[in-house]
Amino acid sequence: MLTTVPRGTKDILPDTIHEWLYLENKIRTLCALYGFNEIRTPIFEHTELFMRGIGETTDVVEKEMYTFPDRGGRSITLRPENTASVVRAYLQNKLYANGSINKFFYIGSMFRYDKPQAGRYREFHQFGVEAIGEQSPLIDAEVISLGDALLKGLGLKDILLKINSVGCPKCRPVYREKLQAFFKDKFAELCKDCQSRYTRNPLRILDCKNPHCKELAEGAPEITDYLCDDCASHFSELQESLTNLGIDFVLDSHLVRGLDYYTKTAFEFKYLPLGAQSAILGGGRYDGLIEECGGDSTPAVGFATGLERVLLALETQKLLPVQNSACDVFIIALGKKAEQAAIKILQQLRSNNLSALMDYAGRSMKSQMKQANKNGAKYAVIIGDNELATANAIVRNMKDSEQMAVPFAALIDKIIFEVNKQ
Ligand code: AMP
Repeated sequence: MLTTVPRGTKDILPDTIHEWLYLENKIRTLCALYGFNEIRTPIFEHTELFMRGIGETTDVVEKEMYTFPDRGGRSITLRPENTASVVRAYLQNKLYANGSINKFFYIGSMFRYDKPQAGRYREFHQFGVEAIGEQSPLIDAEVISLGDALLKGLGLKDILLKINSVGCPKCRPVYREKLQAFFKDKFAELCKDCQSRYTRNPLRILDCKNPHCKELAEGAPEITDYLCDDCASHFSELQESLTNLGIDFVLDSHLVRGLDYYTKTAFEFKYLPLGAQSAILGGGRYDGLIEECGGDSTPAVGFATGLERVLLALETQKLLPVQNSACDVFIIALGKKAEQAAIKILQQLRSNNLSALMDYAGRSMKSQMKQANKNGAKYAVIIGDNELATANAIVRNMKDSEQMAVPFAALIDKIIFEVNKQ
């Protein structure tokens, strides 16, 4: 269909763009306070990057990527997330030479062939941060506290932070075996996906959304009982820091990421009223990813949040800003000569940072006055033959309908004065 967007995508129209800008401004302000610098990477990358950077056994890579050969026969994928691209950019541009820690943030659209529903789209927008180069749990706490500050700063209530540790390639194999032993007798009852996870990625069984798999996972061994000393102390220091920062959290041993390059911290902020789409911000540590992508072993931690979901949460809590598209001045010009005078005044007002509009269709006075009202103009400037003859314009205060004649030479200064007075 020529006249509809592809399924799972949508237009962001001028009547809601102020909500996006509001959110993006909050994000940019916060990232500056926390010392995270913006990075913009291409919307598409070589498919191989995501196969490695997300993991071939994940749902995203197996079922959700927009992958196609380009005209040169290369396999290209629209980015389903941005961490792998940030890591690629970090390595390709040798950003590690900038210092021991690099802190990035990004805002942009991601693409996944997901089942569209409220809060789940095929093109959606993420804000994310990546702190690369530091292993201290203090940076995990900083990343979590940035997420917390964003959600709290927006005024959101009833947000739940869950944290877990998924261990490291040293301690996880023991846990994997315990988990496989636990699910062995239940294998036949697991869903198809979990049956394949059983050998490839058994931790992922714990966060399967299938209700029966959830039941089967009750009483499963908990990874926190199998952490090595390094992972255990990292996790307890993180909890100490979060408590110290006054950030409430709950422990959730079923919060997992199954691949080897995910290490230690995993966390998620949830807004439960969004139901199946309640995960609004998720992240964790990925100390093995940079090496997986061809770099030196480098610790890193980050998160991503879905902007559509944050906006949905803001909407349900009535926290969205109202649109303010009112203009300062609407110029009502009557006749060709007046129009020429008016475009000059428009230009001068705009170069003095006042928003100014006029009608270009030569409509009647009444109709132009209507437009001035519709645009929420604070002042209307009326110029007709009379005004041209006397070199005075009429300035009308749209609120109280008071009018005054102002000489053209003093017009701009007078309007600036009046608008600033309001
Ligand atoms: P992930 O990259 O899967 O860890 O997701 C990070 C965040 O992105 C989630 O917490 C959601 O807020 C958001 N998200 C993921 N997939 C979608 C989607 N299909 N539509 C909208 N938001 C999404």
